[in-house]
Amino acid sequence: MTDGVDRGDGTRVVSAGRSGFGRALAGPLWSAAVWESADLDEGRRRATGSRPGEFYARYSNPTVRAFEEAITELEGAEDALAFGSGMGAISSVLLALCSSGDHVVASRQLYAGTSALLSGPLARFGVSTTFVDGTDAEAIAAAVEPGRTTVVIVESPSNPLLGVVDLAALGSIAGPFTVVDATFATPLGQRTLDFGVDLVVHSATKGISGHNDVTLGVIAGERDLVEAVWAYSVLHGSVASPADAQSAVRGLRTLDVRLARQSASALELARRLEGHSSVAAVHHPGLESHPQAALVRAQMHSTGSMLSFELTGGLEAARRLHDGVSLVRRATSLGGTETLMCHPASTTHVSLSEKERRSIGVTDGLLRVSVGLEDVDDLWSDLSPLL
Ligand code: PLP
Repeated sequence: MTDGVDRGDGTRVVSAGRSGFGRALAGPLWSAAVWESADLDEGRRRATGSRPGEFYARYSNPTVRAFEEAITELEGAEDALAFGSGMGAISSVLLALCSSGDHVVASRQLYAGTSALLSGPLARFGVSTTFVDGTDAEAIAAAVEPGRTTVVIVESPSNPLLGVVDLAALGSIAGPFTVVDATFATPLGQRTLDFGVDLVVHSATKGISGHNDVTLGVIAGERDLVEAVWAYSVLHGSVASPADAQSAVRGLRTLDVRLARQSASALELARRLEGHSSVAAVHHPGLESHPQAALVRAQMHSTGSMLSFELTGGLEAARRLHDGVSLVRRATSLGGTETLMCHPASTTHVSLSEKERRSIGVTDGLLRVSVGLEDVDDLWSDLSPLL
C-alpha cells in the first residue's frame, strides 16, 4: 500500500499531519495556553522571536503547528498559519497587508462576509475597494492601480455560482499581493500557489475538516509573507483552537477519498438536474456546459462537492424543494459528510440588496447544494419528487 495523501495531481504527500507525532499514529492534543521559561533570557528569546513554540498559545501551539505543517505540505508552500475561522484568516490578511489610503481589487463573487469586511470596516479605515467580475482576468488586471493597489483578492471556485478565476493570469499580476480563497476547491482540488499566487486562504471549517464540527481558517504562502501576517495576527487574536486543529488533521487524512466521492456524486446530480425540465440552469465546474470548462480542466484536479441550480418556478419552487427535503439537510455550510442545501438569497447573501444579488446571479430561484457522502441515488430520490 502506498503511504500518504493523494494531492490530486498524481503526487502523494507522505508525511502530511505527522509532525510531532513520534511513533504514535495520532498526534498529541496540546491544550496548554502557556509554557514556563527556564530563565529570563529564555523568556526574552521567546517573547521576541517569530512564532515561538512553547511560549504562549496566541503566538503558537504545537497541535496547531502540526495542522499548519500539513497544510504547508499539501499546498506546496513555505509556511502556513491557522486562525480561529475562515473570516479570522481573511480579516487578518487584509488588515495585515492594507493601510489607510490603500486600494484593493476584489472579485464581486466573494463570500458575503469578505465583501462586507471590504465595504464596511476596511472602507471606514480608508481602504477603498474596486469590485470586478472575478471570472474576467482582464478586468481584474485593469482595475489594479500601480503604486496604490496593495491586495487583489478573489475566490475560485466562487460562491454560489462556481465561477472560476484564471489563476495563472492572476499570478502574473505584478505589484499587489494576490490572495485566493480556495475554500470550495480544498488543497487537493487545486494547487493554487503553483500558479504564482501569493497567498491561498481556506475556511478549514469546510472540506478540510469535513465533518461540520470545527471552526478554523488557514493561509499558506511564502514564509516572509506568512510571518508578516502572523505578526499582525497575534494582535488580532483570531486564534485557532488546538482541538479544532487536531480534528482538522484527522479530516485531512480522509480528504482525498471524501473529495473523490463527493465530486463524483456532485457531477452526477448536476447532470441529472441539467436534464430536468423544472431546472433553468445548473452551475458546477465539472459540467461540460460550464462557461469556463477549459479553464477548469487546466487548473483543477477535482471539481468538488459544490453545485447550485436555478428553478424555473422562482422563489416558490425553491421554497418547496428547500423545505421539503428530508435526507438533505437545510444548512449554509459546505464540504462536510452530510449533503446540505441552502437558499443563498435568504441566507449567505441576505445582507446584499436585491440589485446587488441580481448583479451576481443570486436569484430567488437559486439553491446551493454541498454534496456529502450519501448514496447518490438516495439523494436524487430525495430531490427529484420535489422539483
Ligand atoms: N470563504 C468562503 C468561500 C466561505 O464559504 C466561508 C464561509 O462560509 C468563509 C470564507 C468564512 O469561513 P468561516 O465561516 O470559517 O469564518
